[in-house]
Amino acid sequence: MSLIIKVDPINFKPEDLFPAAEVIKKGGTVAFPTETVYGLGADAFNGNACLKIFKIKKRQPDNPLIVHISSFEQLYNVASEVKNEDKLKKVWPGPLTVVLKKKPSVPKEVTAGLDTVAVRMPAHPVALKLIEISGTPIAAPSANISGKPSPTSGKTVIEELNGLADVIIDAGETFFGVESTIVDITRDPPVLLRPGPFTVEELRSIFTSIKVPPEVSGLYDFEKPLAPGMKYKHYAPEKDLYLLLDNSSLPEIIKKIDKRVAVLVTEENYEKIKDLASKNVTFIILGTESNLYTVAKNLFEALRKIDKLDVEFGIIQSFKEEGIGLAIMNRIRKASGRKFITSYPF
Ligand code: AMP
Ligand code: MG
Repeated sequence: MSLIIKVDPINFKPEDLFPAAEVIKKGGTVAFPTETVYGLGADAFNGNACLKIFKIKKRQPDNPLIVHISSFEQLYNVASEVKNEDKLKKVWPGPLTVVLKKKPSVPKEVTAGLDTVAVRMPAHPVALKLIEISGTPIAAPSANISGKPSPTSGKTVIEELNGLADVIIDAGETFFGVESTIVDITRDPPVLLRPGPFTVEELRSIFTSIKVPPEVSGLYDFEKPLAPGMKYKHYAPEKDLYLLLDNSSLPEIIKKIDKRVAVLVTEENYEKIKDLASKNVTFIILGTESNLYTVAKNLFEALRKIDKLDVEFGIIQSFKEEGIGLAIMNRIRKASGRKFITSYPF
């Protein structure tokens, strides 16, 4: 059994986190909330402690971890050439990870042998306080078994990692629900590696020349993966998920469904099709078209729900690739294993 610490995400006492900080200092593992998704963390300067993360998650050793910091002092301890410090001061704490040249003191287990390190200062009060009182940066990928959707609630982390992580801090739901944006700032111009809650539109106001490669759509893999983890299967439910390319065909498709199917749509689309569906259809409402942050927040729990329901497979609608919509489409293209449909049956 893991030690489970339940806290309010905002109104908690630092003392509540002391047992978790002790575990980090002693080389153990702690699952903790960030504003994006839950992370499974260990002392970033302790290679053996970080190896435990790979073992628990069944993560491939060539898939590096993100180092989470609570101060700029810690940044200078992990990165050798800190570029764009003024810009980082504007964006942190926040859901943006940057890739920088690493210091030799960062163990190879964390960076999968690369000479770069991915760093982020998270904007979740519990994460920041945990890092601060642990007195060390915390290396942490998402707190899921590799391949599964990232956990966005303490309840899901407990279901997945109880007995595997030494400590699980349950602070309820995370705020954004999709993983951080990653930008490689060792390159000139900087390159977007993973779209996330820090949107391209926002990035352009900070890194004006940023390159947005076509691969961030999730339509195809990086030929030579710029970010090593990108080549792995991600976010996928165990059951098949099909991505509908054109939402205008939803009514026609819903009328024809003759199998037990989960249909993942926004409130607006649900209103349009709910009266056309047979009892075979179970709707999972993702959020509202008028604010796609609601969809991002619910997305991974919705994907997990497909496996829990008595359905054969899932169908998910598509989204406009603007703002957070780019991150949503990246995740659902990958979650569907790029099984795209335009009609039913397919
Ligand atoms: P996760 O937090 O589970 O999404 O995993 C962290 C992801 O960050 C990895 O899968 C990589 O894609 C990315 N990453 C970590 N370190 C680096 C690095 N040095 N260079 C490029 N990408 C990185
Ligand atoms: Mg992950």
